[in-house]
Amino acid sequence: MRQTVDVLISGGGVAGLAAAAAFGTAGYSVICVDPAPPVTTGDAPGADLRTTAFLQPSIPVLTQAGLWQRLEPHAMPLQVMRIVDAGGAEPEARITHDFNAADVSDQPFGWNLPNWLLRREFVARLGDLPNVDFRPGTATARVFTREREALVTLSDGTKVSARLVVAADGRHSPVRRALGIPVHTRRYGQKALAFAVTHPEPHRNVSTEIHRSGGPFTLVPLPDHEGKPCSAVVWMETGPEIERLRALDRAEFGAAMNARSCGLFGWLEQATPLTIWPIITQHAERMAGQRVALMAEAAHVVPPIGAQGLNMSLGDLTALMDLCTPATLGEAAPLDAYHRRRWPEIQLRLAGVDALNRASMMENRALRDARGAALHALYSLAPVWRGLMQLGIGMR
Ligand SMILES: Cc1cc2nc3c(=O)[nH]c(=O)nc-3n(C[C@H](O)[C@H](O)[C@H](O)COP(=O)(O)OP(=O)(O)OC[C@H]3O[C@@H](n4cnc5c(N)ncnc54)[C@H](O)[C@@H]3O)c2cc1C
Repeated sequence: MRQTVDVLISGGGVAGLAAAAAFGTAGYSVICVDPAPPVTTGDAPGADLRTTAFLQPSIPVLTQAGLWQRLEPHAMPLQVMRIVDAGGAEPEARITHDFNAADVSDQPFGWNLPNWLLRREFVARLGDLPNVDFRPGTATARVFTREREALVTLSDGTKVSARLVVAADGRHSPVRRALGIPVHTRRYGQKALAFAVTHPEPHRNVSTEIHRSGGPFTLVPLPDHEGKPCSAVVWMETGPEIERLRALDRAEFGAAMNARSCGLFGWLEQATPLTIWPIITQHAERMAGQRVALMAEAAHVVPPIGAQGLNMSLGDLTALMDLCTPATLGEAAPLDAYHRRRWPEIQLRLAGVDALNRASMMENRALRDARGAALHALYSLAPVWRGLMQLGIGMR
């Protein structure tokens, strides 16, 4: 038996679930499949302990999809972005620049939320939409496209005819591979530890990036945990150094983390287990193929610097929702327009994040000094930093 649907979404990660809610809210019939059932509590095995800082331009599409209304009560506003250079002989802050969202906007930079909570709220939203059929535990097995439809075989043998397939099935996207769209991948030999900490000093809605070597150490504000100020940490380092850190006992790890954080919020206490993420930059050669749109990590992967990853994915979704109409859904013209609209912006952001990551990784002291001086000079020029802030928060 063949089922017919407007949109088949391959992948129910954060991006795929957001796409299912957006297309469903717009009135399209949707099937969303993912072999891995979503983990929707923070203490369950396999919980995604990363957080996402949603930047201003991501909010309208989340609101249209009926998602922001659910997220806002749990979100921690980010008002100031602090860049700290700690590249000197000792791990201590030597240059600090604050970028206050108030200088470019009457809104905060963004709003931070745990990824497991996003999954809980997104799945709950899909439950309100009778035209969305979310099938956790089912994978996309085969994809065949022709001019008028995409034919998708699911892992349970079901055959689906869709007018549009949205590939939100991650960096190894099986849909992208079925279409033969090549990717370009850059490896840094780097990994990230993601976890949460509590600290005695309040974060005052300041997101802090500390640069020394190996990659940034970033603290992003979260709501209080057990009555104490709390932040999400992303600590990027070389792969072997991350493995060494992971093998430390709790006390040794605490000492290493506190040295690296330069004591900016007082003594940090680890509040969740550590999770490890490989760091790459990757982009697909095209954002679309016949009857298929690629989005999120299926199309582009960036290191977690400046909260670009999922925000770029919501940029993809915004463009798709603008360009898709019931009359032309999945046709070549809107899919070509989607590629043309997203491609330049994605290339720009990939190049920017790649450059920042390379600068942050520097081991050599002389290069680190040069980096500190260059950033200081750059950030001291008001028009430059105002422009960077607007670009960073996606206002242009
Ligand atoms: C440490 C870290 C911190 C980050 N912080 C931020 C941040 O602050 N802000 C930000 O914007 N971004 C951030 N990002 C990036 C962001 O987390 C990712 O962009 C996002 O989680 C990726 O979402 P995704 O849905 O594309 O991919 P995934 O989460 O990988 O989802 C892909 C899904 O596809 C499914 N799948 C696989 N095979 C199949 C198949 N055959 N059929 C169907 N489904 C399939 C998988 O099971 C998976 O659920 C961060 C990333 C990292 C590593």
